[in-house]
Amino acid sequence: MTRTTLSELSEDDQKLVQQARDIMANAYCQYSKFKVGAALLCKNGEVIVGANHENASYGATICAERSAFANALTKGHREFTAIAVSTELEDPCSPCGICRQFLIEFGKYKVILSSSTTNDIILTDTYELLPYAFTPKSLDDHENEQKHHK
Ligand SMILES: [Zn+2]
Repeated sequence: MTRTTLSELSEDDQKLVQQARDIMANAYCQYSKFKVGAALLCKNGEVIVGANHENASYGATICAERSAFANALTKGHREFTAIAVSTELEDPCSPCGICRQFLIEFGKYKVILSSSTTNDIILTDTYELLPYAFTPKSLDDHENEQKHHK
């Protein structure tokens, strides 16, 4: 994890952060008032955005990160290079546990945590966010071990 500022990022990463900040305007968060935006950079260079969407049945709420992923996966994307996440918190906020699990499903890539009220940035990656994770490899390992035990 590295703490830095927006101006220290590459131009592409700055754009990704800006897209995460911009899409916060579409958050449906009338219960928490906690706007979150995410911008997911796909391997082909396309950026897919998402915002958090709450529900009167609170458990039905979907986070911005998973909203972006649902959009991207629906469009057929399966490989990702980076995700930027933004909230109004002055200190960049980190994805929730469910989102960390969702993110690591697609391997190791850059995670840029940002704020819409400051230029503070935290740079990390999916592996650092969820150490010792359960991943698709866990299922593959299980299948292979079962074969060898027969
Ligand atoms: Zn989440």
